[in-house]
Amino acid sequence: MTKIALLTSGGDAPGMNAAIRAIVHSCQHHQYECIGFFHGYNGLLNDEWQALTHADVGNILQFGGTILKSARCPAMCDPKGPKQAANTLRKHQIDALIVIGGDGSFRGLEALKAHWEGQVIGLPGTIDNDLAGSDNTIGFATAVTTATHAIDKIRDTANAFERVFIVEVMGRHSGHIAFNVGLATGAEAILSFENCDPADTAPQLARLISQIQVQQQHNHDSFVIVLAENLWPGGPQALKAQLAEQAGIDSAVCVLGHIQRGGSPAPEDRLLATELGLEAVNAVSRNQDRIMIGKQGSTLQAVPLNGAINDAKPVNGRWVAAHEDVLTEYLIKHSE
Ligand code: ATP
Repeated sequence: MTKIALLTSGGDAPGMNAAIRAIVHSCQHHQYECIGFFHGYNGLLNDEWQALTHADVGNILQFGGTILKSARCPAMCDPKGPKQAANTLRKHQIDALIVIGGDGSFRGLEALKAHWEGQVIGLPGTIDNDLAGSDNTIGFATAVTTATHAIDKIRDTANAFERVFIVEVMGRHSGHIAFNVGLATGAEAILSFENCDPADTAPQLARLISQIQVQQQHNHDSFVIVLAENLWPGGPQALKAQLAEQAGIDSAVCVLGHIQRGGSPAPEDRLLATELGLEAVNAVSRNQDRIMIGKQGSTLQAVPLNGAINDAKPVNGRWVAAHEDVLTEYLIKHSE
């Protein structure tokens, strides 16, 4: 009987449970055996696992987090780690390993492949949406929804106090969350890797100051800056200090942080996770190897793992342009 192992790795993302459920259901449909390893790759190194059946995945699809737990596992970056992981897979006579995670987790799969003959399949599970080969990753829609609702609330208090707010959102080194959330909330400014050079923030700072000053002269209620994490040297507190020092602008800082990773998955993530999970098991039955299952448009497709990791996944250029155009138009109109 074909035997499949799965694990969740790296930053957890809402919808991972829905993917686990779909994989387990599909395994039962194909009459494959399915086991889950706990705590990311640590489960392979420590041989920590359980068999998974229908009964184990009932009532989980609506919850964030992951029933298999997730973790970082630095030992996988040491040459001994992948070898040990391969030995565990061999010991359990696993035919295919499915990993739900981000680019780091897929690098782990590639490292494992050097020591193991079985099939490896990745499912894009990260709120950052930074994997090429799938329009969206599992968890992204929920993170955008959560951050949007949070900023709507911040907007209320910002309006009441006529405040400038700097809101930091997640995304690692890409602006998918920043631009989606910034546009969805009507943020006056979006600062992200796509429109701001971290090595030279002076032009953006000058532009921001002039935009805030123009707006304050016109008595607008509030000014929300959506800031991508890891962008501004010194983080949002440094930006706050620079606004104060250079232009006497007072601002409040809110780092949304891990709330973006939690919560009940949005329907889009439940559906995406279910489709991708079912397709991952189909891919095992087709003997596919070293692939990630993604969805582009309405088509499910298998893309090479190294492409998913290394190819660029730019933020929709129209959205970056839309924000810039609106901003420029506003500045020109109001500074005349
Ligand atoms: P997210 O970006 O959402 O946090 P991720 O999968 O990219 O998810 P990482 O922490 O980068 O998260 O990676 C998860 C795990 O994958 C690491 O803890 C490690 O076990 C494994 N891993 C990452 N990079 C490598 C590598 N170069 N070689 C082997 N294993 C790796």
